[in-house]
This record gives sequence, structure tokens and C-alpha cells, in this order.
Amino acid sequence: METLINHLIQQGYLKTPLIIEAFRKIKREDFVLEDLKDEAALNVPLPIGWGQTISQPLTVAFMLELLQPEPGDKILDIGSGSGWQTAILAYIVNKGKVFGIERIPQLFKFGKSNVNKYSFIEKKIVSFICGDGSKGLKEEAPFDKIIVAAAAEKIPETWKEQLRIGGRLVMPIQSSIWLLIKKSPTDFVEQEFPGFAFVPLINDG
Ligand code: SAH
Repeated sequence: METLINHLIQQGYLKTPLIIEAFRKIKREDFVLEDLKDEAALNVPLPIGWGQTISQPLTVAFMLELLQPEPGDKILDIGSGSGWQTAILAYIVNKGKVFGIERIPQLFKFGKSNVNKYSFIEKKIVSFICGDGSKGLKEEAPFDKIIVAAAAEKIPETWKEQLRIGGRLVMPIQSSIWLLIKKSPTDFVEQEFPGFAFVPLINDG
């Protein structure tokens, strides 16, 4: 993994010291299926069952650098899957809070048990919710940051509403990653980064 992390630093994907530290401390091999542990340090997505994947390290690095998570942040992580990115966020926010939402019950359990290898649930830094994240998590809003791991067709208004002023939303729309920064309840600065691949966001209605 150290080779991969150094590679991501050299290529300019990983930049922020605290994000780099979190990548080093949270081991991707703790978040993959038993028979794929040897492949955890490869820069590829890997199957985690139920047609889903643990994201590619390059993509997670790129999205986290756009999100700029900081200590004390309250973050919503939509499509938490294996829990790898959730755990990286938990390490960074430290005494903040991360809410992970996953709609597939078996992955919700898988993510929970993986994240608890680092005691983040016991320490009440991470809470997992099993359900549809396409409407966000109203009862815990507003969030400082929202990050999404599955691609929607367009930007759901509810996510924008659930962001605090100054907050950042990073999400895939089709095959682009978008960064939105909330300047006022109705003004957002938007930036698009094309050329990525994601599993679809499933709207449970
Ligand atoms: N960060 C995760 C990514 C998993 S892939 C990891 O690296 O393991 C994206 C995940 O989004 C899948 O587990 C999928 O089940 C989930 N997902 C898709 N639509 C969703 C929705 N509407 N609400 C919550 N989770 C969703």
C-alpha cells in the first residue's frame, strides 16, 4: 500500500498531509473480502459482493482532496459500501462525526464490522444507517461536507439543502465528479471533473 500511496502523491492525487496520514493509517486490506486481501494495494476497484465494489484508491484520493475533510467536521457519506472511505473520514474528523448510509443490508453490516476494526463506532465517531441515501439524512442536517460514491443522473436538491453555508458536496453525476460549494442557500459554485466510472445510485423511491 505504501508504494501505491507514494505513487498517488507523486501523481498529484494525494496532497493534504492529514488525508495522506489517514490513507496510511486505515488499511484498505481491512475492507476487502478475505480472498482479495492480496489485491488490496492495487489501484483498482475490487468486488465486495452484491454487484458493488470498493472504490479505486485514485478516485477516493481525488474526491477527498476536493471534499477537504477537516477535524471536527460533520460529514454524510452516501453509499458507504465496504466502509473504507468512511473510516478514512472518521480518522480525519477525529472528534467530529461521520454518518454512513448504505442501502444493501449485507453491505451495511460488512461496512459496520470493517469500520469497527478501528473502534470508530464504539467511539461514536461513525454512525451507520441502512437505507436510501438519495434523500440525504434530514434528521442530522446540516452537514459540513457530503460525499457520494454512486452516480446519480442529476444533482438531488435535497443534498444541496442539507449542506451548511460554506459546506462542500462531492459526488459523481454520470461519469463526472462534481464539486459544489454552498455560498448562500441558493448560490453554489460548481466544478466538473470528467472521466471517472461509478456504480449507479439506486433511488428506492
Ligand atoms: N466508498 C465505498 C463505495 C462503494 S460502491 C467503498 O469504497 O466501499 C457505492 C455504494 O453505494 C454501493 O455499496 C451501493 O450499494 C451504494 N448505493 C447505491 N445507491 C445508494 C443509495 N441510494 N443509498 C445508499 N447507498 C447506495
